[in-house]
Amino acid sequence: MTWIVAWVGDAIPIALLTLVVLAVMFGPLERAFAARPEQRPWREGSAVDLAFFFGQYLVWSALALLALDQVRLALGDVVPAGWRQGAAAWPLAAQVMAAVVLGDLLVYGWHRACHAVPVLWRFHAVHHSAERLDWLAAHREHPLDGVTTQLAQNLPAMALGLSLGEVGALVVFRGMWGAFIHSNVRLDVGWLRYLVGAPALHHHHHARDAARVMNYANLAPWIDVVFGTYERPTGPETYALGVPEPAPRGYLALLAWPFDSASWRSPSLGADGDQASGAYEPATNAARAARRSALPLPPMGSRAIGQVAQRRGSL
Ligand SMILES: [Zn+2]
Ligand SMILES: [Zn+2]
Repeated sequence: MTWIVAWVGDAIPIALLTLVVLAVMFGPLERAFAARPEQRPWREGSAVDLAFFFGQYLVWSALALLALDQVRLALGDVVPAGWRQGAAAWPLAAQVMAAVVLGDLLVYGWHRACHAVPVLWRFHAVHHSAERLDWLAAHREHPLDGVTTQLAQNLPAMALGLSLGEVGALVVFRGMWGAFIHSNVRLDVGWLRYLVGAPALHHHHHARDAARVMNYANLAPWIDVVFGTYERPTGPETYALGVPEPAPRGYLALLAWPFDSASWRSPSLGADGDQASGAYEPATNAARAARRSALPLPPMGSRAIGQVAQRRGSL
């Protein structure tokens, strides 16, 4: 038990420092370029998101690191030594680039699976239960969803033989980017919107309307373009965020939510497609596809992207 106390004792200053750094980085950005100007920095759900932040930094990150290290060691026996030696001969920049691109592809597939497979959605729905988005809401994530996502993101880096320190640097970079795309920010980044993830795209992914959820790639939207799941919203952000399911409100209740079978027994959707009768529809891809086919396309950013969106149902 003493090591747990020692770990938490060491982790508290790191967590507090990270909180201050993120607040200093994103606070002014959110004030200057707010996507939803009426949203206050301390808003409904902030306390729960703060609990997720400290839970992640004080408890779950240690378990995630442990899991990553175990997988990294196991990969040493699985990946042929010749492959690793070949990759080790590349310049570090090429190794990192390959690790990032392959990690992006893998986590894109995992993220889509989390929306398509009901048991995975139970855990991922915790992240989507946020009804207000900002840099703090990025930390609302069930630990099992978080650790599996970390594994998917970092599997190529570990298979390529990058060190734990280099993998850790990638984890920090992706964490910062995750905070950015959830921040209450609207910035027009021009053509870069196809190369690097932006808040507008990821906010759209959090739309409560099951028919509008797209944009599965956090860091690399070109993957969404390739697979026909890219959708750039236009106009002000006024749509509702969250999940169709009735999510609990508290931190511990949200941690337990995926295991509560009664919560996930889906009654049939009302004829009007909303929750007027108290019924809800699981926000899985199949459910979305069914609803999407009955709805007109949402406003699109360009004709080309509109064509991509029209193909999205087939992927
Ligand atoms: Zn998602
Ligand atoms: Zn998100």
